Amino acid sequence: MDFSLSDKEQKLWERAKAFTLEHITPRAHELEKRDEFPKDVVQKAFETGLMNLHIPTEAGGPGLTLLDETFVSEATGYGCAGMATSIMCNNLAFAPLVIGATIEQLKTYVEPLVTGKEAKFGAFCLTERKAGSDAGAVATRAIRDGDEYVITGTKCFITNAPQASLYTVFASTQPELKTKGLSVFMVPKSKAVKIGLIEKKLGQKNSVQSEVTFEDARVPKDCLVGKEGDGFKIAMKTLDKTRAGIAAIATGLAQRCVDEAARFANIRHQFGKPVGQFQGISFMLADMGARTAAARQMTRYAAWMADRDMPNSKDSAFAKFFAADAAMQNALDCVQIMGGYGYINEYPAEKLMRDAKLLQIYEGTNQIQRLVSGNIILRESANIDTGFHVKYDGKDSPMF
Ligand SMILES: Cc1cc2nc3c(=O)[nH]c(=O)nc-3n(C[C@H](O)[C@H](O)[C@H](O)COP(=O)(O)OP(=O)(O)OC[C@H]3O[C@@H](n4cnc5c(N)ncnc54)[C@H](O)[C@@H]3O)c2cc1C
Repeated sequence: MDFSLSDKEQKLWERAKAFTLEHITPRAHELEKRDEFPKDVVQKAFETGLMNLHIPTEAGGPGLTLLDETFVSEATGYGCAGMATSIMCNNLAFAPLVIGATIEQLKTYVEPLVTGKEAKFGAFCLTERKAGSDAGAVATRAIRDGDEYVITGTKCFITNAPQASLYTVFASTQPELKTKGLSVFMVPKSKAVKIGLIEKKLGQKNSVQSEVTFEDARVPKDCLVGKEGDGFKIAMKTLDKTRAGIAAIATGLAQRCVDEAARFANIRHQFGKPVGQFQGISFMLADMGARTAAARQMTRYAAWMADRDMPNSKDSAFAKFFAADAAMQNALDCVQIMGGYGYINEYPAEKLMRDAKLLQIYEGTNQIQRLVSGNIILRESANIDTGFHVKYDGKDSPMF
């Protein structure tokens, strides 16, 4: 087993880390006070080739792997999870199209967005007020009318919606079929696409979320991705891939917490020595480091599996909830290690704590990730021979 990165991977990793140190970390604190989209940083990320990594070469993209994406997500997440979300959001928005659309559709609708001089954005539109974890409850409707579909409904919490030129919209073509009646459409920006309330948030303020309403938005029938009814399947396949991206942002944030806490613990003296010399602090640092290392390996493994088309629902769910929980715990510990300074805005820890929380919520809450992976474990256990042949059923069993 070889854990080393190839030359190409190492170069991408170094490029993303250098970009973060130059453009993200020094500005993240100042920019988050404005609570708006960090346009110039994202534009630079685009020019540096750190966006749209998974778009196939036939549609104007670099055609990189999901593992490659995790290097960029981890590096940018280290600097600022909000900016990483803004930069990497196209991966989520376009993933259903890469999975379900034809090359001709990608060339028509996606290529113009990834090949120009200016960064352009997509938005992944699944969540609604009454359909969060329960995607089958989506009320947005798509009705066929001749050679067009008419899309009507309101989505909420949509990342990059105000910036987007193309909306990947999950809408029901047959509501009575619930998840089996869900379809996915590409909806170009138009007057029928209305941006609503922009959310004020606890953290990740360097990313923007809003409501978006489709008011009888008409799109040609070739904007349907895959077939009618493929929407839920495509959404699940998308999340199997993109969860590794969120896990990578979380790993970056978790590593940043280790580094900031250790830096502080080395220089902050109390009782005549650096606080890092107290076992109570060094043990915390050891746990933080171990959590981060485990999160990184789980993340890369889930991405590696996806790149080989191996079923990875369980491992991508593991990676997402483990890495997000690691980020949250590390951020709490970083604040604690920095004492009063951890709680003060001009130091790094409190922002890390606010930013980390979202990682446990978006792209499927950590409860949903446990539900997904727990159910798979239950299914798999039906075929496992543990070698210990106790009878759980039958009349001899004490349980019945
Ligand atoms: C900043 C931000 C950015 C986002 N970006 C996007 C985006 O770009 N596109 C998009 O479509 N959505 C986006 N979302 C939406 C996000 O994915 C949802 O918020 C998330 O999936 C949870 O849905 P909900 O908020 O409706 O919570 P609910 O589903 O109402 O859940 C409430 C609570 O119940 C728990 N719960 C629900 N069902 C179960 C269950 N079966 N078992 C155990 N616990 C359960 C949840 O874990 C949670 O703790 C974003 C959200 C935020 C806050």
